[in-house]
Amino acid sequence: MTERQQTKGESSPSPTSSKPLPIPDEASRPFFAGAREHQLMLQRCTACGRWFWPVKSRCPECWSPTLTWTPASGQGTLYSFVLMHQLYHPAFAGELPYIIAAIDLVEGVRITSTIVGCQPDELWIGMPLEVTFEQLNAEITLPKFRPAARPHGDH
Ligand SMILES: [Zn+2]
Repeated sequence: MTERQQTKGESSPSPTSSKPLPIPDEASRPFFAGAREHQLMLQRCTACGRWFWPVKSRCPECWSPTLTWTPASGQGTLYSFVLMHQLYHPAFAGELPYIIAAIDLVEGVRITSTIVGCQPDELWIGMPLEVTFEQLNAEITLPKFRPAARPHGDH
């Protein structure tokens, strides 16, 4: 039993720490540019039409390198979710518990995001969800999901 605490060099986080934010890189830049415009952007293969996420350099279906960033509908259904009670960062203290979910988009893509706008006990697998956007700063806006205002396909 020589388990040692790895606290060396780590100061305790101050309550005013800002949230850790995703940093757009060259590959994901169009995704974040779209989010700033409140548009869920996903890559789509121009050869076979398949959508995918996360960012890839080739189509996982037909291996074509010709991919286009395309606005997705932002509609999907709840595939699974977990409630996060654990505080991983002090800046999220006011948001516990929060809901991390896997969402099946109508484009055939499964995306991981956060559910907002409803209580955990209101969630059910297969429930219709729609994208919403939370602006964190001038650079970063994150897509999140909330219960759909009306059922999909109800026109
Ligand atoms: Zn393809």
